[in-house]
Amino acid sequence: MMGSNYAYRKTFSLKAAAALFLCVLSVTAFTACSARKAPPARTCISFDTVCTINAYDAGTDALYDACEARLNELEQVFSAHISTSDVCRINDAAGDHPVKVSVEVFTVLKTARGFAEKSGGAFDPTIGPLVSLWGIGTEHEKVPSEDEIAAARALVNWKLLSLDEEAGTAFLEKEGMALDLGGIAKGFAADEIASVLKDAGVSSALVDLGGNVYVIGSRPAESGKSASGDGTGVAERKWRVGVKNPFKPEEGAALRVDVADTSVVTSGNYERYFEKDGVRYHHIINPETGWPAESGLVSCTIIDSSSLKADVLSTAVFVLGKDKGLELLEREGVEGVCISLDGSVSVSSNMQTQIKTLSDSLRL
Ligand code: ADP
Ligand code: MG
Repeated sequence: MMGSNYAYRKTFSLKAAAALFLCVLSVTAFTACSARKAPPARTCISFDTVCTINAYDAGTDALYDACEARLNELEQVFSAHISTSDVCRINDAAGDHPVKVSVEVFTVLKTARGFAEKSGGAFDPTIGPLVSLWGIGTEHEKVPSEDEIAAARALVNWKLLSLDEEAGTAFLEKEGMALDLGGIAKGFAADEIASVLKDAGVSSALVDLGGNVYVIGSRPAESGKSASGDGTGVAERKWRVGVKNPFKPEEGAALRVDVADTSVVTSGNYERYFEKDGVRYHHIINPETGWPAESGLVSCTIIDSSSLKADVLSTAVFVLGKDKGLELLEREGVEGVCISLDGSVSVSSNMQTQIKTLSDSLRL
């Protein structure tokens, strides 16, 4: 299963795989408490990351196959590395002609454009030229020259992504422009997989697409105990999703958010990066400067029933920083938690979710 997906993934980095696998473990560590009938949770590689789907007692091979097939189908249209994808076809036609795209890609592009505007361009789906230039997580990662950055920046502008609703087409108006939906597509995919599971009648499940988490229902009761036999009723049996310690990601979770029926998405500077001369260059780029975002945040976690929204906002808030980022969350009525460089933890005022700090290095 993993092998065949691996073969064509030229840019997939083992370092990233290891880091993301740890991330998956940190989420499941809190949740692996149910009696698991065969088959076990399904783990596969899709969207350049480790994906885990666990429907616990309701899981069947057929259901997991359907989820994996849907993931791979979506990757085929969203990937910036698969030459026949909608994204690559739009990129190839930049400056030349509009391209008819799938309903899924059109939906994501519309949302991406909307949040590009709402975030003042901090989130920009046309970030492709800068992502390629830095090559973070690939074999050609490097610190580019200022000239190279200026040239790539000139090609990043969400306002030049035009969408024609009636024709179902997308068009990048300038030659050399390129979409990169790495900051939003996994959110859409998580919502889709949650739908596949819910449509199959699953009432309790965990979907984790490389840290893009979606939980359905509440946490299953522990093995051998009745529904409320673990001392907590259904309402209290929330999922406990771990947010990795950005300062020591290898040590696991530093925050715990207790949630039900929602998505929890984190963007951090420890997910994909390289270091040169003691400086860390990570994978979330500030479109304004062309450099990895230095907003004072080391991680940002968004909680929302739409994983699509949570994913786009996690990236946007990370770029905007604490103050502007939290303002955006206020305006959107979305919950979020930010961790700053100094270890302070800030939450949005509409935060309803219970959060616990698990590490001395953080201050809530
Ligand atoms: P992850 O992909 O690790 O879950 P994010 O959701 O924050 O993390 O997305 C980061 C990815 O989004 C990058 O790898 C890149 O593909 C893309 N990206 C980087 N900077 C931006 C930006 N300013 N706006 C939109 N997308 C971005
Ligand atoms: Mg994101």
